[in-house]
Amino acid sequence: MAALDIHQIPVLKDNFIYLAREPDSGCVAVIDPAEAGPVLDKAKALGWRITHILNTHHHPDHVGGNIEIKEATGCAIVGPAADPDRIPGMDVQVNDGDTYDLGQARAQVFFVPGHTRGHIAYWFKDSAALFCGDTLFSIGCGRLFEGTPRQMWTSLSRLRVLPPETRIYCAHEYTESNIRFAVSLDPDNAALRKREAEVKALRAAGKYSVPSLMGDERAANPFLRADDPVLAAAVGMAGKDPADVFAEVRRRKDVF
Ligand code: ZN
Ligand code: FE
Repeated sequence: MAALDIHQIPVLKDNFIYLAREPDSGCVAVIDPAEAGPVLDKAKALGWRITHILNTHHHPDHVGGNIEIKEATGCAIVGPAADPDRIPGMDVQVNDGDTYDLGQARAQVFFVPGHTRGHIAYWFKDSAALFCGDTLFSIGCGRLFEGTPRQMWTSLSRLRVLPPETRIYCAHEYTESNIRFAVSLDPDNAALRKREAEVKALRAAGKYSVPSLMGDERAANPFLRADDPVLAAAVGMAGKDPADVFAEVRRRKDVF
């Protein structure tokens, strides 16, 4: 089974849209199109025909291009079954545990509420690629607009056990500010310091810090480490329920 060919399109202030092509079938999915123009231009430049849109959640910077791309290409729009009314033009609803085939490439769907109540993620196991929208960022996680800390902690706990070589295609370039916060809590974390240096060099060279690898995130991302005694102690919550530690870390980030 051939791996997806993935292109990254930076749009708006700090969003990423992804184009993913499955080479055997020629199927091309757009993941979370904030806008249509740059996506249609990129597909044209690559000679790719868009057949699908995969949405992770309903926010405008993830679905803003849905209708225009669908009108231009006739593509099918796939999105969360838990959020049927807020995904423009949705044709196919997927649930936790479902699979969805983009040609020969199979995605496993995770229901990951917290940022929004309907948020899902798509894991293409054979391509080692996770499209997780605004649930997991490099060294960060999404704000809790519609979910509880416990829900988000559960969601992130399910994603962090994916293989360490999994590339995390998140929807925003927030890594530098996430690292500033993480270092304030966890200054002696060698994996975090390594990531800090790496991201500094990437950004200085005008490159993106995304995708990152799950193995690196597990070691360095404070939002994946609420059950690590070192992190719990850093927020004065040694021995407390990880969901409560997570809530405190998220609260601190919100006011950082
Ligand atoms: Zn969002
Ligand atoms: Fe977003």
